[in-house]
Amino acid sequence: MSTLPALPAFFARLHQLLLPRSLVGRVFTLFALSMLLFVTAGLGMFYRHQFLQHVEETQDAASTLVEVASQAVEDSAVIGDYDTVKRTLSTMIVQSPFHSATFIDLDGGVIRVEAPDETYQAPAPDWMTHRVAGALFDVNRVVTVGGKDYGVLRLSFNERKLAAQLWSLLLQSAGLAAVALFVSLVLARTLLARWLENLGRLRFYGDEGAASAGLEEALDNDAPLEIREAIQAVNRSAASMRDQYGQRIAALMSSLVQHKSALDQAAIVCEVDREGRITGVNEQFVRHAGYTREELIGAELARVGAPLPGSGRAWAPSDSVWNGEVVVSSRDGERQWRRTVVPIFDGAGLVEKYICIDFDITERKEFEDAIIQNAKRQGLLARLGRKALEAGPLPELFAMATQIACEGLQVRHAAVFGFAPDRGTAALQAGHGFPPHAAAGAEFPHVPGPDSSDYLARWGRGLLGAIDAGSSIEVFIVCHDRLYGALAVYAPVERTFQEDEDGFLNGLANILATAIERADAKSRLTYLAQYDALTGLPNRHRLSSCLEEAIAGSASGAHCAGVMFIDLDRFKSVNDMMGHSVGDELLAQASRRLQDCVRPGDVVARLGGDEFAVVLPHLASNLEAETIARCIVDGLARPFLLQGQQIFVSASVGIAGYPHDGLDAATLLKSADTAMYSAKNSGRNNFRFFEAAMHATAARRLQTETDLHLALERGEFELHYQPKLRLDSGAVSGFEALLRWRHPERGLVSPLEFIAILEDTGLILPVGEWVIAEVCRQLGAWSETLENVPPVAINLSARQLAHAGLSETVRAIVAAAGIDPRLLEFELTESMLMADPEAAVAILSNLKAQGMRLSVDDFGTGYSSLAYLKRFPLDALKIDRTFVRDLPTDGDDAAITKAVISLAHSLNLKVVAEGVETIGHVRALEAYQCDEIQGYYISRPLPPAAAAALLAERAVAALA
Ligand code: C2E
Ligand code: CA
Ligand code: CA
Repeated sequence: MSTLPALPAFFARLHQLLLPRSLVGRVFTLFALSMLLFVTAGLGMFYRHQFLQHVEETQDAASTLVEVASQAVEDSAVIGDYDTVKRTLSTMIVQSPFHSATFIDLDGGVIRVEAPDETYQAPAPDWMTHRVAGALFDVNRVVTVGGKDYGVLRLSFNERKLAAQLWSLLLQSAGLAAVALFVSLVLARTLLARWLENLGRLRFYGDEGAASAGLEEALDNDAPLEIREAIQAVNRSAASMRDQYGQRIAALMSSLVQHKSALDQAAIVCEVDREGRITGVNEQFVRHAGYTREELIGAELARVGAPLPGSGRAWAPSDSVWNGEVVVSSRDGERQWRRTVVPIFDGAGLVEKYICIDFDITERKEFEDAIIQNAKRQGLLARLGRKALEAGPLPELFAMATQIACEGLQVRHAAVFGFAPDRGTAALQAGHGFPPHAAAGAEFPHVPGPDSSDYLARWGRGLLGAIDAGSSIEVFIVCHDRLYGALAVYAPVERTFQEDEDGFLNGLANILATAIERADAKSRLTYLAQYDALTGLPNRHRLSSCLEEAIAGSASGAHCAGVMFIDLDRFKSVNDMMGHSVGDELLAQASRRLQDCVRPGDVVARLGGDEFAVVLPHLASNLEAETIARCIVDGLARPFLLQGQQIFVSASVGIAGYPHDGLDAATLLKSADTAMYSAKNSGRNNFRFFEAAMHATAARRLQTETDLHLALERGEFELHYQPKLRLDSGAVSGFEALLRWRHPERGLVSPLEFIAILEDTGLILPVGEWVIAEVCRQLGAWSETLENVPPVAINLSARQLAHAGLSETVRAIVAAAGIDPRLLEFELTESMLMADPEAAVAILSNLKAQGMRLSVDDFGTGYSSLAYLKRFPLDALKIDRTFVRDLPTDGDDAAITKAVISLAHSLNLKVVAEGVETIGHVRALEAYQCDEIQGYYISRPLPPAAAAALLAERAVAALA
């Protein structure tokens, strides 16, 4: 069963095998097959005809023969001459179609004659013999003579003979037919071949090209008409096609040539044989490879261009297209080519040769590499930038910078040097890749300038020891105000560093510079946070930690620790009077004098303003502290030379010791402060050790401050009025309004105890305003009841004068009170005038313009010269009572007072002497021609009612 499906395939294969390929073959086969069929059919029919005829003829002949034979037999049988019968039969059977003749008489005798065996030239096949035998039947004849039967004559046919005869005949006919067939086939084959030969010629048409133009002529005259026409048609279309395609091909060829030349222009092209050897190169190839054509021809292509490392396999002859990038070692260095090798196949489909097309991509590659490098370096810069932002220790940043420099420039050694121009040296700050002995901190002589780089290369070689630095590049690290150092990079081989590499290094150096600047700023800030910028001394903050350290040290040890609080007396006056720059210079000089007084280990600090402190970590005794304090007081009492002037200030020093006067730094300092206050209050220019009682004073001051805040609204202030008399007439020339504070518990408090506090707290402004208003109110009240009311002088404080709008305030108050402005006088001290003379002149002029009088208070305690006072619109001078006190006994004071009075007169100023307590004072002042006097000798400051009473009973000088 399984073979069945295979059958159709088998037949198809057979058909293929048997079917001739040529047209002649096929036509001929068809013809031959038809002929064969025809002949075979003819032969079959012929045979059939012959067979039937033969059988019929033989049967007829047998009937005749049996008749003849029976006559003879009858004759003989009658006579019983069986011999004759036999002879007759024998004679008859020869040449007959019978095989045997038998006579059987009635008695059962049998005479049998058989034909002699014959051999046949062509014995018939058995089937034919059988068939002949089947068609003939034996002939039987009853031999009767005279109505008497003698026997039966039987003739048996010789079917073999008959068949052989027939077969022979058939063979001859077949032979004849075969010859005829053969001849006709030969003829047909020849004619067919001849007729169709022309078709075969068409095959050469394509090969012969133009030569086939004569095809038509070459056609045999006996070619069949259809073929002739077919060929002519083909010929015609071929001619048109030739025309058509000829043009196309020409165009194609021209375009091909142009393409080739374009390719030659654009690319590096070579031809390679199938073994991989170069057989031809174009101009570009020669030019780009840098070798001569002769050197290149015959070279292996694989050798002219090795594949880029890591870019894949090398080219080897194969029948597929190869693409890749190769490195060509040309005469002028290595080049990178993009290569395509295309196999060219011959007609049989085998590789005939290769065309290799290259493009030089060196520049592009370099560009790409540069971009990649640049990106990488940007990343590295960012990394260093991030590190710098962390604001960690600089050495770590330097180390990272050297490592990054190596990474970015692909070198092995880099170093950061820091220059110390003052010492003329440079030190290695960090290095990367150097042997261990080249430790950070290594020093080198000579600091290079920004234009000399030779040193750095030499240092690099020094650091590397045996390893030679082939070439080097360095950039300077320039912070905004100084050249910090340099970042240097060393390459082991001779190499030129590119611009972008220089830029990268500069980027690193800039990051370093920024980080250094920031670190500088940070340490500067730290310094500023701990030190006073003006004097360079530790500040309050640092003092505390020093003091704490000292306390900790003495807490564990045997010695004591101490601290001094130092305040410059009258510094504010100098500052106000001579300006801040002079004040600063004074502080700087004072700080140096302080430092001269202390021992090594002691710390002088400035707490701010004119306050200083000294930490004494080791104090064996109070005596030691006393020595230092005395040195300080004496040192600061010596005159300072400022702007060509000798300036005198003094110092008050308070001393506190651990653990006696405090257990912690803050308390100790407070104690020293309190002691200093005490020294100040007890006349300045001296020192005091802290005593517990001092705290009470300090506490009281604090309490006073608190109470003062409420005093104004509680109406606890009042004014007392101290009269001034004219020396010539004894008339009352005026009053000075003096502030009193009626404290609910302490009673009447002197302004000496609270004016300073009012000034410190700023309360002096509202209180001062109240004083002006109260004086105006009082003047108004007096004017109503009294005939003559003298002017009242009001003390102004520095803060009031400095406060903008003083004159306007005064104007408003006076206007509101409706009094004569000429009844008001203002007293100012010299230092107030000196603080800001321009402003003072403006304000005083304004007050003066309103009609008020102006005088200088406490004259002589300040530093102003009379000539200097000329610029202010003043009316009077009040000589300080320290000058009056010792008159007339103290010669100096007398001389000064006399001189001041006469000078003041020459400046058209009245002179008032303060603190006149004795008749002696009065006489002396009379002698010096002083204008007015004020003091206990005449009257203490009086409550308003007493003052009014005085006015009522005394003469009052007329208003000037
Ligand atoms: P000052 O301007 O020098 O006022 C004169 C001071 O000398 C007054 O002291 C007065 O009582 C005192 N005095 C008068 N005659 C004699 C005398 O013969 N011998 C002695 N030893 N002293 C005499 P007071 O009233 O205690 O005032 C002290 C200072 O307070 C004043 O000195 C003045 O600078 C300030 N002051 C007083 N009242 C005010 C005010 O209302 N405003 C401002 N800003 N300061 C005021
Ligand atoms: Ca006064
Ligand atoms: Ca005074």
